[in-house]
Amino acid sequence: MTRLILATRNAGKIVELRAILAEAGLPHDLVGAETYPEIPDVKETGVTFAENALLKAHALAQATGHPAVADDSGLCVDVLGGAPGIFSARWSGTHGNDQANLDLLLAQLSDIAAPHRTAHFACAAALALPNGTERVVEGQLRGTLRPAPSGTNGFGYDPILQPDGETRTCAELSPAEKNEISHRGKAFRALVPVVRELLG
Ligand code: IMP
Repeated sequence: MTRLILATRNAGKIVELRAILAEAGLPHDLVGAETYPEIPDVKETGVTFAENALLKAHALAQATGHPAVADDSGLCVDVLGGAPGIFSARWSGTHGNDQANLDLLLAQLSDIAAPHRTAHFACAAALALPNGTERVVEGQLRGTLRPAPSGTNGFGYDPILQPDGETRTCAELSPAEKNEISHRGKAFRALVPVVRELLG
């Protein structure tokens, strides 16, 4: 069984990708990057989600000698020209402070009326092989931004993004409901034929 490394320490992402690969009949030995604690985190120096996902996947494939998958994601707000985008995790200055990031974004959009509050979550998922072969696929979840947070599920900007066709925010959906429509779910599912093509 080919070992496949997923460049994340997020247990939820590993469970999600493992389920998607298994459903597609691809029983790969999928492990998270925490299996290799000696390998340092990669600096995300790219300027697109795809570049950052590829950087992480290549670094892990080179360091471990195994095929590696990495994802990079964020929220893109139309009226902000696509920001926070690749800066989503550190929009307020501190990396990973979800509450501060969300509060700052809401304040910045406070004068913007509902029809102009369109946005999408974007995710790039990359597969890199130790020999340098690479592929990258993308997924999006479009919606509008609420004026105030609602819901307690999920993370990041979930409490303010209401997907198109929904009356609830992402933080009011169950994890299964969100995976079904999410940018990450779509990108991971788009990766299935790529994994099949390159790894069998
Ligand atoms: P990462 O790609 O997992 O590092 O995510 C980058 C940042 O984008 C996160 O810190 C969140 O702020 C935002 N983000 C990405 N995906 C989601 C999502 O599904 N829900 C809410 N926020 C997200």
